[in-house]
Amino acid sequence: MLIPDIIIAIDGYSSTGKSSFARLIAKEFGFLYLDSGALYRGVTLYAVEHSLIDDGNRIDSQALGSALPGLDLHFVAEAGENRLYMGDRCIEKEIRSLAISRKVSPIATLPEVRAYVDRKLRELGRQKRVVIDGRDIGSTVFPQAELKIFMTAEPEIRAVRRMKEMQGKGEKVRFEDVLANVRERDYIDSHREVSPLTRAADAVVLDNSRMTMDEQMVWIKDLIAGRFGNAGSDGDRAGFPEPDNTRR
Ligand code: C5P
Repeated sequence: MLIPDIIIAIDGYSSTGKSSFARLIAKEFGFLYLDSGALYRGVTLYAVEHSLIDDGNRIDSQALGSALPGLDLHFVAEAGENRLYMGDRCIEKEIRSLAISRKVSPIATLPEVRAYVDRKLRELGRQKRVVIDGRDIGSTVFPQAELKIFMTAEPEIRAVRRMKEMQGKGEKVRFEDVLANVRERDYIDSHREVSPLTRAADAVVLDNSRMTMDEQMVWIKDLIAGRFGNAGSDGDRAGFPEPDNTRR
């Protein structure tokens, strides 16, 4: 399916499957996938490793703010995936641990951290044809995004999904702890002062509590076909400039 040069913003609650969905969309349409949560997790890993956040989640925001400009966080495309690196170290595994999940939302409340991540995302999204997932992409980072999706699902269903994902990676976790983390992140993300999790007025809501990924893909393809002309079949150029047939 061909679609024009657009930005697709996917926001929503934790563990609604935003990143898996965004990855598949990127693959389907040949877009670049950007995981904004990974950048917040990368900053959090740095803060944890440098003891800039304590057990009570008190943050040395001044020291963290000063460290941000020198923090070499970047994505590297490897085996069809965009992996996050800090300098020359791949930190994909570390940033997905429960220890980092527990600290990332407080870190993401800091305005200097949000400014740092927003700047990186805007640089990366300049060329369009990107799909970005997060909490404030459609509302704050790319308010001009041509397609905005807001994902939600019941907390218990999200906790089960997250638990399976973590168990699949060999981490031992209890359902109650994962559910508590999901609820806590929902609360912090929705109540923080800077760029809280909110649905942009022009975002389309997707509640995937009882949907498979295949059903979600059918849903988005229909949405895109409806929005951007009849983009439903290969070779269909609706939504694109007319091809130039004058040159032979
Ligand atoms: O998407 P993921 O769960 O990996 O994001 C981790 C955390 O980063 C979220 O719980 C949220 O606190 C924060 N975040 C954010 N804004 C974004 C993306 C993530 O505040 N755009």
